[in-house]
Amino acid sequence: MITGSVVSSLQGEPRSTHDIDMVVAIQSSKAQDQKIHFNHLPELLSGAATMCLFPADGAMSKMMSNIATFRFYEELNDFFAKGKRKATIPVYFRGNPTVKDIIESIGVPHTEVDLILVNSKSVNFSYHLKNGDRVSVYPVFESLDISNVTHLRAKPLRQPKYILDVHLGKLAKYLRMLGFDTRYKNNYHDSQIVSIAGNEKRIILTRDIGILKIKKVTCGYWIRSQNPKKQLQEVIGHFDLYSSIKPFHRCMDCNGIIKKVKKESIHDNMEEKTKKYYNEFYRCKSCGKIYWQGSHYDRMKKFIEDLKGMDSA
Ligand SMILES: [Zn+2]
Repeated sequence: MITGSVVSSLQGEPRSTHDIDMVVAIQSSKAQDQKIHFNHLPELLSGAATMCLFPADGAMSKMMSNIATFRFYEELNDFFAKGKRKATIPVYFRGNPTVKDIIESIGVPHTEVDLILVNSKSVNFSYHLKNGDRVSVYPVFESLDISNVTHLRAKPLRQPKYILDVHLGKLAKYLRMLGFDTRYKNNYHDSQIVSIAGNEKRIILTRDIGILKIKKVTCGYWIRSQNPKKQLQEVIGHFDLYSSIKPFHRCMDCNGIIKKVKKESIHDNMEEKTKKYYNEFYRCKSCGKIYWQGSHYDRMKKFIEDLKGMDSA
């Protein structure tokens, strides 16, 4: 819930309606629907919970008496249009919005944020913005030691578990192939994803920014790429998983653990040729699917080696 009215621009003081449109363009689709113009200002300001984007000209500055400046670092700029990145963003506001409200109103889901500095001091999401504040917003750093400041959530677990949004089926298979505990169904509702993530302490991976803005969500990551292999590289890089890769450990179909089994114990209708040429067999403990080191094995191995190579390159 937004508790103050917010005005922001990504390029200093906007001077034309073109600038307004550019700013609105980085908002969620819901915010775009709520695109508001100057003549709606009085009703907006009398509303209980509003967020809006306006040109910050003289009239606006008078009505919105407070200003803070925001700066977003590193990949948090992915949420802004090209040409609008790494800029200082002035935010005009009244009331007492929290820093979390403003960050999400600008378009960055809170799950992407690990550290917020206001006037060089770390604060948490519930910090109420004051006139003149200078706010720096940082993404999750895996390798930088910033242990003496307030992180916004516990450090990620070394063996992270994931739940994937319905459009990431291929990525789910890839993550399982590398041994990562990955829940996925192509018919989950958003509410199910959020509740499973909370109950099982799973990180939500999604290309839908909206789900990451749900208050109950504490750990999530917005997948940038649309290409499944690049998505996998993104996840492995972002969560620094290179050293945790455990190939051929999980069932790609159901996420169950696969265990080596004796060749003689396999009685299903597997082709005789397969039994003849291969000796190592694995069975999923959950769904019973049989795996063996067939022709796709080398391709998978090469794929994994390439991924690991990217880390050391
Ligand atoms: Zn299985």
